[in-house]
Amino acid sequence: MTTQQKNYVMALDLGTTGNRAIIFDHTGAIAGQAYKELPQSYPQPGWVEHDPKHIWDDTKWAMKRVLADTGISAESIAAIGLTVQRETCLLWDKTTGKPIHPAIVWQDRRTASFCKELEAAGHVEEVYDRTGLVLDAYFSATKLHWLLDWAKQHSDVPLENMLAGTVDTWALWNLTGGKIHRTDHSNASRTMLLNLETQKWDEKLLDLFGIPAHIMPEVQSSLGEFGVTDASLLGVEIPVTAIFGDQQAALYAHGCDRPGLLKCTYGTGAFLVVNTGADIARSQHRLLSTIAWTQMVDGKPKTDYALEGSMFTAGACIQWLRDGLGIIKTAGDSDPLAQSVPDNGGAYFVPALSGLGAPHWDMGARGAFLGLTRGVEKAHMVRAVLEAIAFQAREVVEAINSDCGTPIKTLKVDGGACNNDFLMQFQADVLGIPVERPAVLDATAQGAAFGAGLAVGLWDDYHTIVGDRPIDKTFEPSVGAASAQNNFAIWQDAVGRTKNWIVS
Ligand code: ADP
Repeated sequence: MTTQQKNYVMALDLGTTGNRAIIFDHTGAIAGQAYKELPQSYPQPGWVEHDPKHIWDDTKWAMKRVLADTGISAESIAAIGLTVQRETCLLWDKTTGKPIHPAIVWQDRRTASFCKELEAAGHVEEVYDRTGLVLDAYFSATKLHWLLDWAKQHSDVPLENMLAGTVDTWALWNLTGGKIHRTDHSNASRTMLLNLETQKWDEKLLDLFGIPAHIMPEVQSSLGEFGVTDASLLGVEIPVTAIFGDQQAALYAHGCDRPGLLKCTYGTGAFLVVNTGADIARSQHRLLSTIAWTQMVDGKPKTDYALEGSMFTAGACIQWLRDGLGIIKTAGDSDPLAQSVPDNGGAYFVPALSGLGAPHWDMGARGAFLGLTRGVEKAHMVRAVLEAIAFQAREVVEAINSDCGTPIKTLKVDGGACNNDFLMQFQADVLGIPVERPAVLDATAQGAAFGAGLAVGLWDDYHTIVGDRPIDKTFEPSVGAASAQNNFAIWQDAVGRTKNWIVS
């Protein structure tokens, strides 16, 4: 078979709620996909685990299923791009391939008290300077520390035989038949162990968290050669040529490859990421500095850095309205309900259901409805919840504007909750800038596919492939903008009242 016949790219999108394989054709359109939801395990309050074996079994299943469903042969897949939930990490035995403990998921808070100890010992600034991250249980470092501690007491696998990794590293190791133990800079930059400047594991931090360097994967460019899949998997060897963290992959798909280009993914949480170019931007507002992606350009390494504002609860509030309170039947019902009333009736919601992320980083904050009177109806409350998602994004955009100096001109969006027209219009109103929604909302998988396809020459120009993506709708600020912006100040006041509710 000639290389011309290799007309497809497969993206593996291994997310928090499920694992997906999507095949893209040479025009960048989706040819087919297979998805399986991933069971979540909550062994104790605040703990969240995934079974790594389950992640890998579902990945294999999705790859085979999408090939079978579309009738596309494995031989015609030019490359695989991998994008994953970030920060989630695990240890495994390199001889047996068995995980030593379930993976600890990014949402898991079991190491919060360890973070407090490190904070009290004065490590906050040092961690921020070296990694660009806020010292928080969200990132992998304290989770790996916990896993190593657990293994010391409960596992008979010797330390020399252990490998550590985030989900990309685990998947790559399995895809390559246990041969390749690597990660890319975008995932590595979320571990709180990568030095942002040297782009290498930081010895001082490995030491601080008690993590031996030999268990860590090799770090390489996000776009490049990561190895080939083991032939026993799909009958042929397929090169893996792109690896990204999920938010960085979405940024790549949106064409945000220059400073000042911003995207927001509205999924379970909401993640605003802005490209800051070749320089590490340092935030004055507790945004995270991170690596967007790295690649070789004309034989030289090139890095795109980014600033990120992560909000833990966005679509999750809508799930809570549906499953927790039962006041809507489907997530989509929130849209017409919110539009059925002319305003929020004075009701404001603080979406701190699992604390507040950027720019507050207050894990002790809890959710609240404020401003309730007898006149407040269900529709007002649903509207207040959707408005709160947009208000949160405005806080982060303000922080980005003031850190970057030049105001953001457009917001590019993706993720499940951006199907909601009310939310998108209100977002445009409260920001006072256009909100651009593409036709394909799977930007994460698209980014991994574009990266992988470009690396093997299926496409030759990044700007053409991202520019060819159809836009579904651009929401312009409307007549409602002035009142939305006035209400933002009231909402901020409401946020202030929910802080430090839980004092640990
Ligand atoms: P994730 O990748 O985090 O699993 P998705 O991008 O698949 O998230 O989006 C799912 C989230 O979007 C859910 O939390 C759901 O409540 C929310 N959602 C889906 N459709 C809508 C809608 N029409 N309006 C508001 N929220 C929605």
